[in-house]
Amino acid sequence: MYRHKLLISLVFALLVAACSTSPTGRPQLITKSDAELIAQAESTFNAYRSTLPLSTNRAKIDFVACVTEAVVAELEPPYSDIEWELAIFEDKQVNAFAMPGGKIGVYTGILEVTENEHQLAAVIGHEIAHVTARHVNERASRGTLTGIGIEALAVIMGGGYTGGAYTASQVMNAGAALGLQLPMGRGQESEADVVGLEYMAKAGFDPRAAVDLWQNMAAKAGKVPPEHLSTHPASETRIENLVSQWQKTLPIYNQALADGKEPACRKTW
Ligand SMILES: [Zn+2]
Repeated sequence: MYRHKLLISLVFALLVAACSTSPTGRPQLITKSDAELIAQAESTFNAYRSTLPLSTNRAKIDFVACVTEAVVAELEPPYSDIEWELAIFEDKQVNAFAMPGGKIGVYTGILEVTENEHQLAAVIGHEIAHVTARHVNERASRGTLTGIGIEALAVIMGGGYTGGAYTASQVMNAGAALGLQLPMGRGQESEADVVGLEYMAKAGFDPRAAVDLWQNMAAKAGKVPPEHLSTHPASETRIENLVSQWQKTLPIYNQALADGKEPACRKTW
């Protein structure tokens, strides 16, 4: 009798786990523990920080921190309750990532593509949306994370900086296990675009700038190795998806401006 009850509650737990919905209302299969992924993300983030050179350029640090703080300030619980951490890596990769638990990494290379604070906010909003929409958990639940793309990562990080406590290949494997360096599924990418636009607009950044960003990214894509952000060039579909959100996000942006939110984050170099 007791065993029977236990089994029922286990089945129930599985059903509950399987019935999550994403921020855009998409049904999500979530079976992994967020806590476990957050712990994994934390050690991976520490590995990145101790392995890759951190930027010492004050102007770049201030610019990225200003935009990130403004976007993070618009999040809702539970994501407004966590302490978001930001690391800015001195690296020419055109890339950025955000990990479960609120760890954000930005490579200075992306600042050559983002022409202003609005375009950087589009990047930050997109990356944060991957976290709030639990995309890493979703991929882990599908069992599609570990071991993916080691080879692709070797191209990006091979012969990388090894002055830290971790070797480049250790960091690489940790990053691959979380799927950080790879494009997520198409559904997840467009969801991150949509949710990210809302975050940037709420913070007082112009959501139309996301179109410029992805066009710049596509123009640069031929010159840089494949990475999470630049692997998918700005396809027509992506641009259409972004433009289709203007009707919803422009009023949010205008309201933010009316509320006096106009983050003074400027590129000063
Ligand atoms: Zn993405």
